[in-house]
Amino acid sequence: MPEFRPNPEQLVAIALFVAIGLFEILFPFREYFGRIKHFGKNVVFALINSVVTGLAAMGMNIWVFVWIEENRVGLLNLFEVPFWVMALLASLLFDMWIYWWHRINHAIPFLWRFHQVHHNDTEMDMSTALRFHPGEIFLSSVVNVFAFAVLGIAIEYIVIYKLVFTINVLFHHSNVAIPERWDRWFRYILVSPNMHRVHHSNRSRETNSNYSSVLTIWDRLFGSYFEKAPSEITFGLEYDRSKDCQTLPYLLKRPFASKGDSRMDSDSEEG
Ligand SMILES: [Zn+2]
Ligand SMILES: [Zn+2]
Repeated sequence: MPEFRPNPEQLVAIALFVAIGLFEILFPFREYFGRIKHFGKNVVFALINSVVTGLAAMGMNIWVFVWIEENRVGLLNLFEVPFWVMALLASLLFDMWIYWWHRINHAIPFLWRFHQVHHNDTEMDMSTALRFHPGEIFLSSVVNVFAFAVLGIAIEYIVIYKLVFTINVLFHHSNVAIPERWDRWFRYILVSPNMHRVHHSNRSRETNSNYSSVLTIWDRLFGSYFEKAPSEITFGLEYDRSKDCQTLPYLLKRPFASKGDSRMDSDSEEG
């Protein structure tokens, strides 16, 4: 039985997970029933996905980082700059890559088959941040290997970025009520709960916007930034709303079912 010894990154993430969870209970944005059931189901995804990422790390990621370091391949290895400048550059570039990868997941029907599992959640709280189909996690792990190599990102910078990413992603999925004025200030730079709630809307115009994960600059720069009052948003997918569409076996089989191949053609008349 392997022993679980969390690294500092995981310890910070666990502490924040508990803190955000408390805020969700004390200051909820939306009241909803079945919180524990909802949470438990999404945590199952986290457990399966931790095995997938662990295997991917052993199978590919660790070796590619060694290869990048030894051969000094990729864009960032062309420069000699101090550690913190490189950390900033690597985080910026990788965050932009994550933006495009997310956007591609909405645009290509095959990838949407997996990504829709994240969007079919009709409730939204920080556990939604864990709800990704293992197939999407596997595909992301594979393409990220190429991104690391092309961009020339060393593992120590990815560890820093991942920490910021994890904290921000848990926070912007959370069911914490935040005054719009504060949210607006926050999202000048970082993805806020009200901004990401639009991305979880049941309307395709809104789902196909706000793709950023950490910095909001990418949506502003590439024309996908969209604002809407969160109280007017219905979460989930219009074609996947019934109770039967929320069970764990259904969600695991969802990418291989025939309906709802593409977000684009499901309600494109909305404009
Ligand atoms: Zn998405
Ligand atoms: Zn999301």
